Amino acid sequence: MPTVLVVTGPSGAGKGTLIRELVERVPEIEVTVSATTRERRRGEEDGREYWFLSDDDFLERVGRDEFLEHVEYVSGHRYGTLRSELERIARRGHVPLLELETAGALRVKGEVPGAVTIFISARVEELERRLRERATESTGEIGERIALARKQLEQEGEFDYVIENDDLERAVGELTALVRGLLDTTATMPRR
Ligand code: 5GP
Repeated sequence: MPTVLVVTGPSGAGKGTLIRELVERVPEIEVTVSATTRERRRGEEDGREYWFLSDDDFLERVGRDEFLEHVEYVSGHRYGTLRSELERIARRGHVPLLELETAGALRVKGEVPGAVTIFISARVEELERRLRERATESTGEIGERIALARKQLEQEGEFDYVIENDDLERAVGELTALVRGLLDTTATMPRR
């Protein structure tokens, strides 16, 4: 049984959509709400998609060791997983699922015993198309995200599982089967 599930991959790979589909199918998992200093997008709510913090507030919390992991991503925006989120979810008897960029995912893999990491992959042209279509960032930031995505795709081999998101329905099926298998402890218990 994994202690935490980490879903990672480049921006535009469709991690968010896949996770939304997954939690509808697997009720034992619950997604952590990260903290970030980036601007809120239209339709996003504080405490739902993210805890939106000022830079000062974020750094104070870093000083108080409130984060399991945190990174500075493109355009100087910070993102981090609050330890309190993991505790909240564990108290409810659920398995926390973290959606992280690759540096944070590798840190959690190195630091949390029993963490399982899943990399969502896609072709660079597809990532670029999705980011431009989504149009939630400026042209400059989209360029930064794509440059970073190319580097992140090269890290694929460092994660426990890789799911190619070229076809959403197939990718959802694969991810759901994988997570159900990981949570099914009876599957690994010896038969009597
Ligand atoms: P976005 O700005 O598109 O919501 O997120 C940008 C990137 O930050 C995504 O790749 C997302 O997975 C990642 N991210 C979101 N929350 C966290 C977090 O708490 N820690 C880390 N390391 N990455 C995060």
